[in-house]
Amino acid sequence: MSHERKTVGCPFVPQSPAKPALNALCTKWQRILRLQDWDVKILFARGFDLTAGKQGTIEWVSKKKSAFVKILDPQDYEPAIRWPQDVEKTVVHELLHLHYAPIDDTEGLREMILEQAVECIATALISLDRQTKE
Ligand SMILES: [Zn+2]
Repeated sequence: MSHERKTVGCPFVPQSPAKPALNALCTKWQRILRLQDWDVKILFARGFDLTAGKQGTIEWVSKKKSAFVKILDPQDYEPAIRWPQDVEKTVVHELLHLHYAPIDDTEGLREMILEQAVECIATALISLDRQTKE
């Protein structure tokens, strides 16, 4: 009688994370942030389609009040990052840029200060919004 060793391996099946409905989030936050007069197109973009390390980007044309938002597709979010991806916060962050569009020169110190302010406000709004639902 021979004992054959068997190794049972579970195949690694990458779980595809749930994708929130971007258009609904965008509409909700355009209303809260009073940005309904902007024509915003929003979609998920793959990691290779965004600048490395970015979770979202926004481009806008002030004269037309139109904007195009790309949010990092959850399947490309780096799992080693300690903070889980928060798609809704990224949507809020990108939309907030529209309030600063008239003073955004997108370079240097001003961009960094602006970026930090936008991130702070986005975080505050998201935690407020989530508190009121509890
Ligand atoms: Zn930003």
